[in-house]
Amino acid sequence: MTEEEFKQFKAALSITAVATALGVPVVHSRCRCFFPTRHAHGDRTPSVSFSEERGTFRCWVCDDVRGDVISLVQIVKNCSFLEALNWLKETYSFLVPGASNATSAPGRMSEVSSDPVLRVAKVAVREAALEYASPTSAKELVCEDERKKIILSFLKMLSPVDRTPAAAYLMRRRIYKPTWDRMRLRTITDYGTLNNKLKDIYDLEVLKYVGLFNERGNLRYYKHPLFFPYLDDKYRSFYFQARAIDSSVEPKELNLRGTVPYPYNVSALDGRPGWVYLCEGVVDTLTFLGHDIAAIGIPGVRSFKTEWLPLFKNKSVVLCLDKDEAGRSGTEYLQTVFANADIRTVVLGEGVDQFGKMLMQEGEDINDWFGGKK
Ligand SMILES: [Zn+2]
Repeated sequence: MTEEEFKQFKAALSITAVATALGVPVVHSRCRCFFPTRHAHGDRTPSVSFSEERGTFRCWVCDDVRGDVISLVQIVKNCSFLEALNWLKETYSFLVPGASNATSAPGRMSEVSSDPVLRVAKVAVREAALEYASPTSAKELVCEDERKKIILSFLKMLSPVDRTPAAAYLMRRRIYKPTWDRMRLRTITDYGTLNNKLKDIYDLEVLKYVGLFNERGNLRYYKHPLFFPYLDDKYRSFYFQARAIDSSVEPKELNLRGTVPYPYNVSALDGRPGWVYLCEGVVDTLTFLGHDIAAIGIPGVRSFKTEWLPLFKNKSVVLCLDKDEAGRSGTEYLQTVFANADIRTVVLGEGVDQFGKMLMQEGEDINDWFGGKK
């Protein structure tokens, strides 16, 4: 795991979900101290608080009971930094960056002590953390505002999908023009011309830096001509996913480098009370939108960020992940994350909505379910 992957993995973990998995009951972001004897009345009024946004916890009495998700595992399991990291990687294998989606089967439990005698190995934490300390501070070639401008101008150079192979691809999946227009779907009709035009306007190093060009100096999207811009509530987009329309191409999707700023179709999270359908992938989200159902998409369970939780204000969530192993473990994870933020969830097909009686078959996704053809 590289330093960047380690950061991503940590950011994807909900500290309260992990606490729950460790058997620590967290109620209203609080739990009793792991050292009750240090507290009056065995810490009857919980002293440890959790910050889901920061991914941290701390006891207001014990100076040594604080830290991040890794320290939490270390304290509760009384184990080393690396043992804690390994336990997290096995328990949340589907969140490990670069891990195959298919490997979500429960892993072998690592040999960590679950000795109830708890202690904090501060020195060990500090030493092990050095492994991941950042020696690199790659110079920013362009500032964040400039990067956004380049992405925006790139998207403006793309063509609407009408009467292109991308349109045929979408129609086979029963996603039609009103949805293409509403979500500003775009495509590349002439790769060579666009490739040269971009090189004329921008410095090649800048194009590589913002993630539009590959190391060989060409536009990355030769085999991924269908573009899903992540529109904000003002219809601007600084992030997108590109999709292959030829089914033999792997990977099927290319995400723009960098962090996913918010879920796809974030404007459905409008703060008004109601249900929103959370899908894995843009195609499933578009399928719902075509049926006038409020839906948002995440590129994968791994990409869900707990800092998005405030966006879900006043919403209840129907979880619509694929009906397979990875989808099920992802659903379980998201249920915990949302429950800890007091956001109600139901699983599609098991809940209160109008589709309650239509169950997806094993291996199906939302688009299959609505009759789309692969
Ligand atoms: Zn304490």
